[in-house]
Formats: sequence, structure tokens, C-alpha cells
Amino acid sequence: MNAGLILAGGKGERLTGYDKPKQFVEAGGKPVISYCLQTFEQCADIDLICVVIAEEYRGNLGSFLFADPGKSRQHSIYNGLLFLKQYAPDRVVVHDAARPLVTGADISGVIAASLTWDGATPVLPVTDTTYQSIDGKMITTTLNRDELFAGQTPECYDFKKYLAIHERLSDEELSAVRGSSEIAVSFGMKIALTKGNERNFKITTNADLERFRAIVEGR
Ligand code: C5P
Repeated sequence: MNAGLILAGGKGERLTGYDKPKQFVEAGGKPVISYCLQTFEQCADIDLICVVIAEEYRGNLGSFLFADPGKSRQHSIYNGLLFLKQYAPDRVVVHDAARPLVTGADISGVIAASLTWDGATPVLPVTDTTYQSIDGKMITTTLNRDELFAGQTPECYDFKKYLAIHERLSDEELSAVRGSSEIAVSFGMKIALTKGNERNFKITTNADLERFRAIVEGR
């Protein structure tokens, strides 16, 4: 059994000019979050869906299971995992509501890879030359781009193993997490890379929202 966990608990403060977080802004006649919810509902590999979302935004979404947002993205994931525990899913598929153009193939791809690994995450190759700078002013070193990948969601994890890691971490450690697979990997889970999808970009800035609008409104 595979559970979808949709993250919509963020405040989206890098998007300006709207009175609500980016995942609830309308584009193409419906809120951004509705796109990925529909894709998850239609995916035959997903058996139940929990949305991490503040109560005030639950009203018009439909009949989903809900969990409360946490103070960081990883805390929101943990809240969702604790809620899903009663259903004892085999795997959890974590997805950002701010990535509306996810496809069924993206979801099924990470689930299929997770049959032989502890989890899987979709990635895109890094195409630009990539520098590391410790002070943000001067190049410290040039990284080997062949070994670098940009992570997306949906990310799939063995439910029991992933939840157990969260139960071992302190509040501070959860706050310091930089990406959902970081703790999985540091606790020894083997997370496979699957092929990402250029269209499955995350809406972060106003320019991202305009790019999404241009796609769904056919401009
Ligand atoms: O801020 P960022 O774009 O990285 O957030 C990615 C996703 O995580 C968004 O869909 C956002 O709503 C969600 N999130 C969350 N709880 C938080 C912070 C972010 O569910 N505390």
C-alpha cells in the first residue's frame, strides 16, 4: 500500500503580491494545489492521500485526509507520517503542493524504484558550471557537475524506516534538515535516483508562477 503525502503547510514568503501562500493562488481557473491532488488521485499506484495543510485552507479541497503543518518542511513531513501511521502503508510518496505539473509517470517511477531500494527521488542533471563559495564572494572550488543532481519531488520512502528516523531526531535536528532525503541517507537508507521532469518545477517566485500560468493558460 502506497500513501501520498502532499505538503501544503508552507507560507511561501518568496512570492509577493498575494494574500495567500503560493499553493493556494489561482492559475488556469483553480488553485495551484488542485493540479497535483488530481494527479495523485488518478494515479493507480497511490492508495490514500494525506494533505499537510492549515485548517483554514481545507474547506474546498474535497475529501482528503489532513494533517497539521509543522514549523519547518521536515516537521510537516513528520506530522504527516505520524498521521499515516494508523494506516501502516508500505511506502510514502512525499510531494510539494507547489509542484503542480507532476505526472503519474513521475509518481509511479519513484514507487517502482522503491521496490528494490529503500526509496527513490527524481533528479535532473546539473547543466551549468557549478562553483562552491564559502563566503559567497570568491570561488572556493569548482564542483564536478557529473556527480551533481538537482532534486525534485515526489520522493518515495519505505514508510517504517523513514518514520523511525524521525522518531530518533531532536527538534533541532529536524529543523536543520535541508531536504527530505538527507536524513534518510545519513541513517543508511539506500535512495535511488530516478529521471526527473523539467516541467515538474517548483513555484517559488513570481516568475515561476508566471511560467506556470503561461503553460496552463496557454499563453
Ligand atoms: O518553501 P518550499 O518551496 O521549499 O516548500 C516546499 C513545499 O513544502 C511547499 O509545498 C510548502 O507548502 C511545503 N511546506 C510545508 N510546511 C512547512 C514549509 C513548507 O508543508 N513548514
